[in-house]
Amino acid sequence: MTETRPTPIVACLAGDGIGPEVMAEAGRVIETVSELFGIRVRQVHLPFGGEAIDRHNDPFPSHVRAAVKASDAVLLGAVGGPRWNASPRRPEQGLLDLRKELDAFANLRPVRHMDIDLMVVRELTGGLYFGAKTLEPDRAMDMCTYDRPQIERVARWAFRLARRRSGRVVSVDKQNVLATSKLWRKVVSELHEAEYPDLELTHELVDSFAMNLATRPGRYDVILTENLFGDILSDLAAAVGGGLGIAPSASLGPEAPGIFEPVHGSAPDIAGQSEANPIAMIMSVAMMFTHGLNRRDIGRAITAAVDSVLADGIATSDQVSGGRVYATWEVGQAVCDALGHSSTAGAEFAEHPFEGRLVTRG
Ligand code: NAD
Repeated sequence: MTETRPTPIVACLAGDGIGPEVMAEAGRVIETVSELFGIRVRQVHLPFGGEAIDRHNDPFPSHVRAAVKASDAVLLGAVGGPRWNASPRRPEQGLLDLRKELDAFANLRPVRHMDIDLMVVRELTGGLYFGAKTLEPDRAMDMCTYDRPQIERVARWAFRLARRRSGRVVSVDKQNVLATSKLWRKVVSELHEAEYPDLELTHELVDSFAMNLATRPGRYDVILTENLFGDILSDLAAAVGGGLGIAPSASLGPEAPGIFEPVHGSAPDIAGQSEANPIAMIMSVAMMFTHGLNRRDIGRAITAAVDSVLADGIATSDQVSGGRVYATWEVGQAVCDALGHSSTAGAEFAEHPFEGRLVTRG
């Protein structure tokens, strides 16, 4: 990762639906930690997704492309919604183009909830989503390809993360049926033997793995998988780990900027009602400081503040059963208050938030 500038630039792509609502809370958290830690972060807001289609007839306009590439990190809310269902240009295409443009091949999705502490590492720029496609009236095709370098580079992320965590990686494929999965398993095994023999590697088939993840998630730690399986399994992992409203992600390439975004979509059913849970977005800010801006200490502080807010039962309706329901901005404010109360700048926080379980010492 390249050196971060003294005043890092964060490209903020709020997008559609609840995107702007959760992005507003992310902005407040960035301002709060900037003050507490004595740093300067420049937030640059840019149109993306459906909003950019409306304004520029393109979900990822060229001026946004240029600004994103000149930034140190990209914060993304969410894109899409029924409004663009009939549009010839899809908001979601902007997302695929953004990932490809930044070569963001490693998608990290931590899930921490009660006794569950998982890290899904999903390959993000290969496989079915990016292969050749044909669509005829009665026949369709999606091509799935993977090559050795593509598999090795994402597997290295999984092994490196595992080394800081429990030392265990499970690689998920469908090697009894798919040629790409046969190669996947071979390459991951060879890399393990050559470079990470001290770590534990197991392999599972995606169908039985899905069942095991749903019934006994606590037995896993780092989960490495390809693009399509990772898309499905990470939503399943998020569901067993407290729901979409609290699930963040980072998508990282060979160099900055990385993309930091909640796992959830634009939630049109609750947009504009102050019901959106901002925690997934705020935890994406924590991942941005840790993985994108070289400020692991700030990432830890935000994670600790979120943990304390959740422990106090301050939550939006998706997390509350019976107690008081808080609005989006109230949860965001509570995280900022918790950051202030913990006199964060001087406190020590144990371990890396996404590479080990977090315990507040200070
Ligand atoms: P979704 O994630 O938007 O919503 C699924 C359910 O979870 C909804 O009931 C929603 O209200 C709830 N939910 C999601 N985020 C929440 C939050 N922060 N707080 C509280 N509840 C939350 O998925 P969907 O409904 O399948 O998709 C809606 C739109 O989002 C579609 O246009 C889809 O293409 C798009 N989408 C975008 C992304 C992205 O931008 N990365 C990801 C997935 C879906």
